[in-house]
Amino acid sequence: MTHLRTQCAAAFLVFAAVVCTTHADTSTEPRNLGQLKQELKDYHARDYPLQVATVLSAAEEWVKSRAAKVKKPALILDVDETSLSNWDEIAANDFAYIFNGPCSIPVQIPCGNLAWDQSFRATAIAPTLHLYQEATRLGVSVFFVTGRYDDPPEKSATELNLWLVGYRGWEGLVMRHDHTGTVAAYKTGARAQVEAEGFVIIANVGDQESDLVGGHSERTGRIRNSVGEAD
Ligand SMILES: [Mg+2]
Repeated sequence: MTHLRTQCAAAFLVFAAVVCTTHADTSTEPRNLGQLKQELKDYHARDYPLQVATVLSAAEEWVKSRAAKVKKPALILDVDETSLSNWDEIAANDFAYIFNGPCSIPVQIPCGNLAWDQSFRATAIAPTLHLYQEATRLGVSVFFVTGRYDDPPEKSATELNLWLVGYRGWEGLVMRHDHTGTVAAYKTGARAQVEAEGFVIIANVGDQESDLVGGHSERTGRIRNSVGEAD
């Protein structure tokens, strides 16, 4: 509910009329969680598709312009909410992040994140898949760099999910096995390792600031979604 604050100013005119103005007090009241969730759902349904398409279109144009001009060109892609969409899990959980526990079919709250990942039900984000296919067609090596943990069930499920939705023939899938330090530092180090192997990273696309900071890419592209900062 929005609180209203009324200010009145006496106007000492002939009849001492009182002039009042009413306006919303937005300075002290936190936003309503239910309204915020609805805004996020509205954004996902209305503005997000164009946002994704715009970012990925720019990345694709850049990759096309650079692929033939660079020796060993590489493209870095984040996985979750960049290459794969977990919206079904996110919406079912009403934006809660539930790490452990089962995830039913069809997906219902509570849906455990690990169980969701390992049921490989995430869908492709179509503009990213298009970029991927164009990049590989042009001889650009694609490396997925993800914050998902590097353990056998998670790795095989991630590989299978990517493959099932159309990402095939990638050069590398880098997963996080050191849980100390920040995600940004881990991802920066992963890109540095790709460069150490002789690749030139022409583009890096992600949905989090931590996907992109730290350099080691000619260009970056950020998808802005309803998930927010995860790190
Ligand atoms: Mg992500």
